[in-house]
Amino acid sequence: MDFKNHLKFGIFLALFSFFTINFSYILCSNFSLNFQQNLFIFSILSSLLILVGALSPDIDSHSAIPHKFVKNLIAIFVFSISFYFLWNQEIFHNIVQNLEYFIFIKFILTIIFSLLLMIIALLTFKILTPKHRGIMHSPIFGFTIALLLFFIIYGITKNFEISLSGIFFFAGFLLHLLCDGIL
Ligand SMILES: [Zn+2]
Repeated sequence: MDFKNHLKFGIFLALFSFFTINFSYILCSNFSLNFQQNLFIFSILSSLLILVGALSPDIDSHSAIPHKFVKNLIAIFVFSISFYFLWNQEIFHNIVQNLEYFIFIKFILTIIFSLLLMIIALLTFKILTPKHRGIMHSPIFGFTIALLLFFIIYGITKNFEISLSGIFFFAGFLLHLLCDGIL
């Protein structure tokens, strides 16, 4: 199935889950305000993660939009982090500080090395991308990521109810596999 249809199905399940969760607590008026607030955050996060889960398996397809999206994200992330650290590096500063136009030379050097690191990161991503509809299209892989998300969200929010939204990634992931006819 192509990206457009995965997106349509993903949005449908995400909205369905968002409204179901919120209707359930509107009906149960005896929930505490704090619990209702947590449930609202939970409904937003779980809907988002359903959508991410429904799109992410195709990261393994070099021609697919999710793969290109992650590639661009890696490029921007690695380039900016490298630029930031290299610009503040003493080594570059010490090498060129006695030269004329040293700021300009330092700038060019920083750009060149940041681009080099970016290319290395992109090549690594290309090599590490598993074959299409291989491991990244297996339920075990989706479940492992969902479990990881659960622990990461728990680590950040320290809230059990909100962190359960991590598991919803798996629902979106399974939806993708169903749409691809793998399950
Ligand atoms: Zn797929």
